[in-house]
Amino acid sequence: ERRQLETLGNQARLTTLGEVASALAHQLNQPLAAMASYNAGILQTLERLKCDNSAVLNALRREGEQVAEAGRIVQRIRGFLTRRAPQPEPCQLGEIVQRALTLVRRDLQRLHLTVQPQVAEGLPAVLADPVLVEQVLINLIRNAVDALNDVASPRIGVMVSRAGRRFVRVDVDDNGVGLGGRSIDELATPFHSTKPEGMGMGLSICRSVIEAHFGALEAGVSPLGGARFSFTLPVDTGDNAA
Ligand code: ADP
Repeated sequence: ERRQLETLGNQARLTTLGEVASALAHQLNQPLAAMASYNAGILQTLERLKCDNSAVLNALRREGEQVAEAGRIVQRIRGFLTRRAPQPEPCQLGEIVQRALTLVRRDLQRLHLTVQPQVAEGLPAVLADPVLVEQVLINLIRNAVDALNDVASPRIGVMVSRAGRRFVRVDVDDNGVGLGGRSIDELATPFHSTKPEGMGMGLSICRSVIEAHFGALEAGVSPLGGARFSFTLPVDTGDNAA
């Protein structure tokens, strides 16, 4: 009975969370657009003033890129939450992996980690929403980083390979604490978290995103000794584009 009440409570929290996220995405659009236009304005003014301080100019350009990225994420997440359908397009998973790694660079630097993804040669394009898949990867890599906090020589591996004729597969490995035998069902239960500040929504959202693409998310033991999270996405066959 207690478990049933808990599940009911979690479902109510989930609905609220969806509404809050959708409202947040809506509210964030305006300040993000303002930031982007201030950024562009400052850059233009500095160029007019013939400022050639490349450190400042580069930092401002990076800032502009990050604001644009935040805007794209907010738009896609809002779209996903309101329509519950991704916007798939043919894309190369190797490139998405590379972008995700760039976006988590700071987290990796904190552990003095560099990650060289292993991407198989000649992989076909997959049919996926690149922004949502990038978010899945960022989540999995950040979780790996969190699992490596107290490990002497931390390692993370990312591998992209073919899985049969119809899928491409990504593995994210770490040599952290591991999953202690917990299954993906348990890990991806909303609000399941072992972190003091954790919300426990990351894997649940990752799984929804992957399943909305007709792929699968799995968890197990990594050859590196810690956890392995893997997901598959369907190969673009050219005739099922949205
Ligand atoms: P959160 O990160 O907020 O806890 P997640 O849904 O992303 O939420 O993860 C749920 C739980 O799964 C984590 O609290 C942790 O116990 C476990 N977990 C996820 N990734 C890993 C990993 N790479 N190694 C060990 N445990 C993990």
